[in-house]
Amino acid sequence: MALIVHKYGGTSVGTTEKIEAVAEKVIKHKNAGNQIIVVVSAMSGETNRLVALAHAISDQPVPRELDVLLATGEQVTIALLCMALEKRGCKARSYTGGQVHILTDNAHNKARIREIEDRHIRADLEADQVVVVAGFQGVDEMGNITTLGRGGSDTTAVALAAALKADECQIYTDVDGVYTTDPRIEPKARRLSKITFEEMLEMASLGSKVLQIRSVEFAGKYQVPLRVLSSFEEGEGTLITLEDEAVEEARISGIAFNRDEAQLTVSGVPDQPGIAAGILGPISDANIEVDMIVQNVAADDTTDFTFTVNRGDYKKAMKILQQVVKDMGAREVKGDEAIVKISLVGVGMRSHAGIASKMFQALAAENINIRMISTSEIKISVVVNQKYLELGVRALHAAFGLDREPDPV
Ligand code: ADP
Ligand code: ASP
Ligand code: MG
Repeated sequence: MALIVHKYGGTSVGTTEKIEAVAEKVIKHKNAGNQIIVVVSAMSGETNRLVALAHAISDQPVPRELDVLLATGEQVTIALLCMALEKRGCKARSYTGGQVHILTDNAHNKARIREIEDRHIRADLEADQVVVVAGFQGVDEMGNITTLGRGGSDTTAVALAAALKADECQIYTDVDGVYTTDPRIEPKARRLSKITFEEMLEMASLGSKVLQIRSVEFAGKYQVPLRVLSSFEEGEGTLITLEDEAVEEARISGIAFNRDEAQLTVSGVPDQPGIAAGILGPISDANIEVDMIVQNVAADDTTDFTFTVNRGDYKKAMKILQQVVKDMGAREVKGDEAIVKISLVGVGMRSHAGIASKMFQALAAENINIRMISTSEIKISVVVNQKYLELGVRALHAAFGLDREPDPV
């Protein structure tokens, strides 16, 4: 008998009809001779609604209370799903994160899972029950409710699969797998039958929200077999694999993008030791994460220093830099919120030269100006004006032939 963890995202449980359809699916898998643990998200739109309620009260809601509020979304879904299962004669029990004891650290709104107690879950499974667990939430050592950051139900599912040594963790969502890029942006995107953990991690961290980045980290660390599939259609989905298994030998496996960035430039900075520390020190002291960084070669003894931050941190960063400019005797600070980052990802990139130049040519052919570039072994990212997001993604998708099956090697 196999133990399978299913996870259903917001759109998959967006109405009571959809919750009933999920119940049917779970029962089908159970009747095929499996033990099933189900993790569910809040009904679609619910978490956003709760966030908006909190912001109607305060610009900066108390993190602890925000978690108390946000955790209610998933609690609704677990109860409704269990009712739908029981109605069909399938024994089921729902648990909140605290009840099943998903222990996290105390970093409210972005907590990390430390430990999961498997005793109750195992006993229920032995008693032929389906176990339904609320995604996205846990408790800290003091019993305070915590949440795991947006998209966190993916991580709950993978963590449960790791803790219980499940045979597979299946993430059911509104697309039938991981695509070469977001199919909402490029309809010609192609489903990948397999992708390596390393590539999936890179795609997730560069903006592909199909899986929360921490869920991929977890799956890689504990070697949890992970699959992304459609809630609505039958299919194989996409298997996230270890690299040494056979993987499509494409040079590029996908294109990720991130709309959530903003760019800041401090210009006319005196060219002397300590510049980067002087500019970025106050930014990191304010807990603002910096992504790409570029410092130009000095001309006239001064230089320009450009970096990107999360768009939500833009105004705060701008204010800090205005002070830094004064203190350093720099010329000015400028910023742009209307930028996006587009990235090519692929482990096959390591062994192939010329990918960067092909990327830049494809963007140039569409007259897309590149503002910043950053590279690593398995990715190349560029920052461009946000109005070029769709055009840029589609141009690169075509240039690298991602709509076609890769040639056999
Ligand atoms: P859920 O509510 O089930 O967690 P999400 O909205 O978090 O679903 O994730 C699924 C969405 O991820 C898809 O609808 C799709 O628009 C988006 N997405 C982004 N990049 C990709 C990709 N490379 N492959 C598939 N989907 C992607
Ligand atoms: N409900 C949470 C969110 O919308 C967690 C999740 O769906 O994974 O981010
Ligand atoms: Mg999600």
